[in-house]
Amino acid sequence: MGFAFNRRMAAPNTSSAPPHPVAVELVALTKRYAQGQPAVDSINLRIASGSYCCLLGPSGCGKSTTLRMIAGHESVTTGDVLLEGRNITDLPAAARGTAMMFQSFALFPHLSALDNVAFSLKMKGVAKDERRQRAQDLLERVAMGHLAERKPGELSGGQQQRVALARALITQPRVLLLDEPLSALDPFLRIQMRAELRRWQKELGLTFIHVTHSQEEAMALADTMVVMNHGLIEQVGSPHEVYNRPATEFIARFMGGHNVLDTPTGKIAVRNDHVQIAPAASTEAGVQAKVTDVEYQGTYVLLGLDAQNAGGTTGVSVMLPEAAFATRPYQLGDDVRLSWAPPHAHALAAA
Ligand code: ADP
Ligand code: MG
Repeated sequence: MGFAFNRRMAAPNTSSAPPHPVAVELVALTKRYAQGQPAVDSINLRIASGSYCCLLGPSGCGKSTTLRMIAGHESVTTGDVLLEGRNITDLPAAARGTAMMFQSFALFPHLSALDNVAFSLKMKGVAKDERRQRAQDLLERVAMGHLAERKPGELSGGQQQRVALARALITQPRVLLLDEPLSALDPFLRIQMRAELRRWQKELGLTFIHVTHSQEEAMALADTMVVMNHGLIEQVGSPHEVYNRPATEFIARFMGGHNVLDTPTGKIAVRNDHVQIAPAASTEAGVQAKVTDVEYQGTYVLLGLDAQNAGGTTGVSVMLPEAAFATRPYQLGDDVRLSWAPPHAHALAAA
């Protein structure tokens, strides 16, 4: 799909001073809706300017609450939110320099693309000619200028997303906040739209903070992943760091593709494509296991096994390239030994 920004037009925030290195800083940020454990529990975080940051974690872990406190849509119980060094904790949403893009884009169905984009300027009392011109300029930037008079129902999902982006950008935000923007889309469109989000973010040089419960989506998009669990941040790092060095058992399991085992030296995580498998009789070293499942997946075969470790019997998986499986096709009930190169075993912090 062809699409390019008009580079002659200034990005929303190039007019002012050089960017602050930290777009958003959260300091001991806490949200308590009721008695008991807080929804967000004294989290500290610095998000670099111009980065794509994903807040990732299971449903209910506090992602949306965190994002809404940054946006000013939710009051802060204790702690602070700083935007480029300014304390914005008590500012109204419209005065913060943030903008929000919602799930399914939440466009007004009865308004044209142009009027959707111009809407917030209308609310601010900007004169009609000026707001239409600014909305048209932004639609041009996202290659939607020629469709400005269409209503959302007459646009594809991808075109609607561009209109939603233009609508969020019209307030000239420093930071764009996105709460599960792709989760209502069908899988094909979701993958297409996330590639566009990534491209926009790089083109605009804007900081994006994107909430998702999908580790696949976060890995595809993020410069920095912030993995949350029960209102706490468990790990912050690049997708590569988080996937290859999960800090905790929770993260190893949540990211998928890992086996968690109790060894004599402690609890470890090993990627399922880093596990070697051999017939039980072949070697003395390794973990004893029995094949319980064989799934053909195309380029590889996924074996399910019951492994004997210090914690008793544990379900594990091994990913074998198709060719490796073809030379030694393990079957249900086979007794095997599992091993891995020591650098591939990552120690996990105690829960
Ligand atoms: P996530 O976006 O990660 O799914 P949320 O931030 O929406 O999680 O919710 C975190 C916790 O706070 C959950 O236990 C949720 O039930 C609770 N919660 C969220 N919003 C409210 C609210 N408005 N009132 C009371 N509890 C809430
Ligand atoms: Mg949420």
